[in-house]
Amino acid sequence: MTFSELKLTRQFLNAIEDAGYQEPSPIQIKAIPPLRSGQDVIGIAQTGTGKTAAFLLPLLQNLKYAQHDEPRALVLAPTKELALQIHHEALKFAAYTDLRIIALYGGVGPKSQIEALQEGCDLVICTPGRFIELYSHGHVKTKRIKQLVLDEADRMMDMGFMPQLRQIQEIIPNKRQNMLFSATFPQRVERLADEFLLWPIRIEVTPESTPVETVRQLKLELPNHRTKIAFIEWWIKNFLGEKRLLIFARKKEEAENLARYLQRSFDFGIRTIHSNKGQNSRINAMEDFRSGAVRILVSTDVASRGIDVPETEMVINASVPRDPHEYVHRIGRTGRAFRDGTALTINDPAERYALERIEALVGEPLEEIEAPESLESFDTPRHERQMQAREIDREMRKRDPNYRGAFHEKKKKGSKTTSSRSNRKPRK
Ligand code: AMP
Repeated sequence: MTFSELKLTRQFLNAIEDAGYQEPSPIQIKAIPPLRSGQDVIGIAQTGTGKTAAFLLPLLQNLKYAQHDEPRALVLAPTKELALQIHHEALKFAAYTDLRIIALYGGVGPKSQIEALQEGCDLVICTPGRFIELYSHGHVKTKRIKQLVLDEADRMMDMGFMPQLRQIQEIIPNKRQNMLFSATFPQRVERLADEFLLWPIRIEVTPESTPVETVRQLKLELPNHRTKIAFIEWWIKNFLGEKRLLIFARKKEEAENLARYLQRSFDFGIRTIHSNKGQNSRINAMEDFRSGAVRILVSTDVASRGIDVPETEMVINASVPRDPHEYVHRIGRTGRAFRDGTALTINDPAERYALERIEALVGEPLEEIEAPESLESFDTPRHERQMQAREIDREMRKRDPNYRGAFHEKKKKGSKTTSSRSNRKPRK
């Protein structure tokens, strides 16, 4: 199958050639024909499958050329990073057209976005919150919108955008074509699809939540945080070479500490990207990672969605995501654009359970590797030991409600000193 067999016009075939795509990916083969003919489509596809081009190419082709000043198509995405990424792709595909495409997102002042809207546009790519904000001040006109895309719908719902999505549904014309893309398809997304789409065709390119096949998935258990950092440092020293490494941490503080610690050992730049960072700093970090000026990026889950750097060869999970679907999204950052990648998940003893859930979702155990003998193993500090024990207790209790764990016992013994009324904190 070739792109021209998908009946894309010359302008788009040229742009595809410039992008270096040899042949359409499975989601593109399945989604482009029905989308071209105006049908509603649900696409269950992860990042890395080529889903963005799958909806953008027919959408842009349907728009044809610049017309009117008000947008005729709307793409909604959960994060600024993803909105920018889609914008980047759309500009690439529209290079041989006069279509006007703008991205709107929060975190920056609205002035330049309002100006861009006033100049006229055909396609708007935006986050739901900013769209409502600009609409309510009269800056976006919706009456000509004929195509709507909900990208990463599962993520938009996780981030609590349902009220905004409903509001948007109210203010755009009913007669329109809808496309919904989601990496997973739980019931809540199905309900969203029922509300937004009409007789959709459902397309699935990989079984639900199966990570991209090109990624080699490894695991390694280490006793504590400090030893994990020592391992990452060892890995960078020995294997980074010219590669690009994306490290995931669970919380912003963890991401910052990790980056700060690693930075002390290396003379090249290590950057962090998380929700506390300003918009510009996030964009710059992404751009530098993309260009290769920065080869190590430390990110939290929140920031992970919009990262699209096909050259990322390696992902290290410095801690195990508690939601196994998050794991799939994280490792979707590597092995993109159909290249090979490696994802290493480092767990401490308390994270074994979360790892088991991931293996259940992925459908097979991750490949276990061993730490090098030279790796210094640090003692687990008391507070970290307690945190681990608490987490193990929590997990064990989930499996057996009658379980009385080690941490629980200790607390009971020690509770003598705090059991007198005067010592007890008042209950709220
Ligand atoms: P996506 O799944 O849309 O996030 O796309 C993942 C990556 O694959 C992006 O870097 C795209 O530019 C790239 N890509 C999309 N379609 C193709 C294709 N047919 N051939 C090669 N690369 C592609």
